[in-house]
Amino acid sequence: MRVTEALRRKGGSVVTISGEQSVRELLALLAQHGIGAVVVSDDGVQVDGIVSERDVVRRLHSDGDGVLDGPVAQIMTAEVHTCGPEATLDELMPLMTERRFRHVPVLVDARLTGIVSIGDVVKHRIAEVQAERDQLTAYISGGP
Ligand code: AMP
Repeated sequence: MRVTEALRRKGGSVVTISGEQSVRELLALLAQHGIGAVVVSDDGVQVDGIVSERDVVRRLHSDGDGVLDGPVAQIMTAEVHTCGPEATLDELMPLMTERRFRHVPVLVDARLTGIVSIGDVVKHRIAEVQAERDQLTAYISGGP
């Protein structure tokens, strides 16, 4: 399945935060939306970075809770791996596994149009495996 189809099914809305906002505000966004990462963007269109719950945990461990009142820009990952709408979820699966990140923002003409999470990829894979199993079962039992 292509990213464009996955976004059509789940919607293209992406939660963003400005790099100047505090880590405390980031935590509120993560909790409010039940998500694990937020795209850092001043205008909601251009990607300045990505910040996930893992960044917060690591910095809390290394620098203490003073980090909570600091800006998101200080803990975000600035070099973001993105994809286009024509990428497939099958391509993103090994990328996420090898690089150890669970979120890939989707860009069209350098504009943020969606985000694919490892949850989306796994959901798609489970549906595929179930469909394959149903086909095999029907084949073996001689059904339609
Ligand atoms: P995650 O698994 O998405 O919670 O992120 C794990 C680490 O990878 C964190 O340091 C994130 O800032 C970083 N990260 C998440 N997504 C991306 C991405 N698409 N490109 C580069 N780094 C990322």
